[in-house]
Amino acid sequence: MKKIGHIIGGKAILSGAATPVFNPATGDQTGEVASGGVAEVDAAVATASAAFLAWSTITPARRAKVMFEMRRLMETRKDELADIISAEHGKTHSDALGEIARGQEVVEFASGIPHLLKGSFSAQVATGMDCYDQRQPLGVVAGITPFNFPAMVPLWMMPMALACGNAFILKPSERDPSTSNLLYDLWHEAGLPEGVLNVVHGGKAAVDAVLDHPGIAAVSFVGSTPIAQYVYARGCAAGKRVQALGGAKNHLVVMPDADLDQAADALMGAGYGSAGERCMAVSVAVPVGEMTADALIARLKPRVQALKIGPASDAAAEMGPLVTMAHRDKVAGCIAAGEGEGAELVVDGRGLKLQGYEKGFWLGGTLLDRVTTSMTVYKEEIFGPVLSVVRAPDYRTAVDMINANPFGNGTAIFTRDGDAARDFTQSVQVGMVGVNVPIPVPVGYHSFGGWKSSIFGSHGVYGPESVHFYTKLKTVTARWPTGIRGGAQFTFPS
Ligand code: NAD
Repeated sequence: MKKIGHIIGGKAILSGAATPVFNPATGDQTGEVASGGVAEVDAAVATASAAFLAWSTITPARRAKVMFEMRRLMETRKDELADIISAEHGKTHSDALGEIARGQEVVEFASGIPHLLKGSFSAQVATGMDCYDQRQPLGVVAGITPFNFPAMVPLWMMPMALACGNAFILKPSERDPSTSNLLYDLWHEAGLPEGVLNVVHGGKAAVDAVLDHPGIAAVSFVGSTPIAQYVYARGCAAGKRVQALGGAKNHLVVMPDADLDQAADALMGAGYGSAGERCMAVSVAVPVGEMTADALIARLKPRVQALKIGPASDAAAEMGPLVTMAHRDKVAGCIAAGEGEGAELVVDGRGLKLQGYEKGFWLGGTLLDRVTTSMTVYKEEIFGPVLSVVRAPDYRTAVDMINANPFGNGTAIFTRDGDAARDFTQSVQVGMVGVNVPIPVPVGYHSFGGWKSSIFGSHGVYGPESVHFYTKLKTVTARWPTGIRGGAQFTFPS
């Protein structure tokens, strides 16, 4: 059985109790991952602190070289990376390649770090005096990541943190930990000096050790809202800079004038892709008007029934299994709750069986109609292949519903009406908005971040916001002796 260890100072270390790792398609245990705590985090901080000075003082252009090489290596090894992701997460090969490509975008953006770190300069702020600013790295920073994007989310953080000159400690999800170790190998091969990046595996004990360690200056977290809130509070209390991205409940509004086939296709990909285990998955469709709703359901029902579900080895599969049996059962419980509370079960995925994969964590695509905002199935994030249809009598009700929801990660509107689309983009209380785009994840040179309880902290991840998150501002005001002597001045300089 595969043993997955921490990587500290370039060495694989198998310490701490072991946690089992499963292949969600077969249900078999395929490995076990080491579980770190205070001792492993102490060791990682010590090695990262020792490596920080040299790494932070080489030229940004040399750090950019590592990024260019990392990009190339990811390209040549992407199938190997995708296989490792699928084996522990369960997502299809093409979906895994998609997350690798989105991670690569951040590496590409980080390759421009000499430009991104440029400060501003003001000449002659007083006679013979200039003022300029620069951004300096924070020191040792850490990232804590969820199971659902084992490559992309660590790559939302590592490239920018490293390119800015920081040393980095990654605490990945214990459910699909192998991808992080392969990413480490690629960084090392790309020329990242030993100790600059360390991987500590584990669960709560490792997270708490990261949050409490005085040698860690900042923490980036991505995961569920309750843990994001906890990480933010505990990390801030320990004096760290923290950005903590949480869960989501993303709505897609379908206006009466929308191209309904296009909207139905968009809902299929956004609702069931990656078995709904995406923070930008659409879990609520909001058709405006009864006629729109009936016509949309008529299009969705056969599409959901025809979903191709299978393991990553099946190139035709459109979605795979859920990540664990416990999560599969929780999602099935949400479907039962929805039915019990009066939702109309249009397609029920609970009976799905796959020959040869009887022990896998499978659940078919499920479609619920006439869901209301008071039902559990609406209030819970779910994080599975379940699409709820909440019918709205008019556009304003649809927007008010989204704005009343505690989450604010992503949303979209499908319409051909420019007025409605513009009003939606301006008034909706959500961080990432799509117009005829179902999953509006910003490209690598913008930044990613929701609103409300989808984020705690004031910076989004990757893109320009991450330069600010991973650096601190220093402003220098300088004068060179001019021979003019004014004597001591006791008034405030102006
Ligand atoms: P999770 O919150 O269970 O775990 C995230 C990380 O926190 C993991 O590294 C885990 O080991 C750690 N953790 C878990 N329980 C902990 C505890 N009690 N104390 C301290 N640390 C703990 O999330 P998950 O199930 O791995 O991922 C799915 C969630 O992540 C969903 O809610 C999804 O919406 C969210 N997510 C959000 C975004 C975003 O950008 N907003 C992106 C991806 C995933």
